[in-house]
Amino acid sequence: MIVGASISGLASASSLQKRNIGYVIIEKESQIATPWRNHYERLHLHTTKGLSNLPYKKFDRSIPRYPSRQQVVDYLVAYQKAFQIKPDFNTEARFIKKHDDRWIIETNNGTYKSKYVIIATGPFGKPKLVSFKGMETFPGKILHSYEYKTGKDFKDQEVLVVGFGNSACEIAIDLFEQGSKPSLAARSPVNVVPRDLFGIPILKLSLLLSRLPPRIADAINAPFMRLRFGDISKLGLKKTPYGAFQQIQKDGNIPVLDIGTLRHIREGHIRVFGDVDFIERNTVHFTNGKKANFDAIIAAIGYYRDYAEIIDVDKSRFDDLKMCADKQRYFGKDGLYFCGFWIGPTGQIREISRDAQKIARDIARKEGVLRAL
Ligand SMILES: Cc1cc2nc3c(=O)[nH]c(=O)nc-3n(C[C@H](O)[C@H](O)[C@H](O)COP(=O)(O)OP(=O)(O)OC[C@H]3O[C@@H](n4cnc5c(N)ncnc54)[C@H](O)[C@@H]3O)c2cc1C
Repeated sequence: MIVGASISGLASASSLQKRNIGYVIIEKESQIATPWRNHYERLHLHTTKGLSNLPYKKFDRSIPRYPSRQQVVDYLVAYQKAFQIKPDFNTEARFIKKHDDRWIIETNNGTYKSKYVIIATGPFGKPKLVSFKGMETFPGKILHSYEYKTGKDFKDQEVLVVGFGNSACEIAIDLFEQGSKPSLAARSPVNVVPRDLFGIPILKLSLLLSRLPPRIADAINAPFMRLRFGDISKLGLKKTPYGAFQQIQKDGNIPVLDIGTLRHIREGHIRVFGDVDFIERNTVHFTNGKKANFDAIIAAIGYYRDYAEIIDVDKSRFDDLKMCADKQRYFGKDGLYFCGFWIGPTGQIREISRDAQKIARDIARKEGVLRAL
């Protein structure tokens, strides 16, 4: 049983199929890859297509190095077709528990039983609640970045984007390009790395450095980052006391892969503010005492990781999801697998691809199935 039919679910399905292992895949929506269909229009992969292929089928040669959101959707639809993956749609897993030697998957569409379950429901399923003191007095739109589609909707408006992650930074660019006046509210210290360094995708360099302890990888990286960006505190940003590799290890989130936001800040196209304190009608007050007026607010504040809610296992098991399948303490224990939750320095889709194959290999080994590959 595979739960979820987006990138992780599809990668798991093809990997099982290649090993002649039958599966059922369920998806709560009525189509595959709903998150990618819903993301904002300007979104492009921050990872290269070469490092974002799912198993056994690459992005087409005609697709650029950094595929657009629509090209990702098209690739996933072609992938589904190539492997004839037929999810049971509109089927949401509501409760998953082990009973005797089978997993019982209770859904809105009946109960399934399976010896193995692969949870592929994604770490970004539930947008965090948008909550600012005084937000009820704000006369304009306040929305989560998940609901943001295009800057065209905000033409000529002063827009505050709260957050300084990859989505916040790209949305600010989109707003500027579409004729609005964006600002970013950066609450926490940040690490910014260029998406490409001297024409080489940073992920490729990251792949080499990821073999070293994070502290050493950061020490090697640091002079290049200083050379590229200078002192980011001059732009109103605070730098994390440690580098990108340690951030991924300690905080479990990826640094900003800059695609031009810092240049726009330097050129005055995007303003930077600190943490939001409270809102008083059109005026947003920041904790550093500054204030400014806005017409709309986009909260790019991230997502909850909600995998724990529906699965009836010892919660300590979820600590495993901070690492790749190889290193998980409970990998496949009792036939339960997780695909797509580890956030590493080498691109999440790349890791999903690898983990899906490791899971399929492990099930094949346990079942004594001959590999088709
Ligand atoms: C804005 C954004 C940009 C990103 N860009 C990149 C990038 O450039 N490169 C990269 O490597 N990674 C990127 N990622 C990270 C990661 O690759 C994506 O989040 C990817 O979509 C994860 O795939 P997934 O299948 O694990 O989860 P999701 O794509 O979130 O899909 C989960 C699926 O499970 C379904 N589902 C959830 N709960 C249930 C349930 N209970 N029952 C049945 N179905 C359920 C959902 O409907 C959905 O179809 C990005 C993430 C975001 C949010």
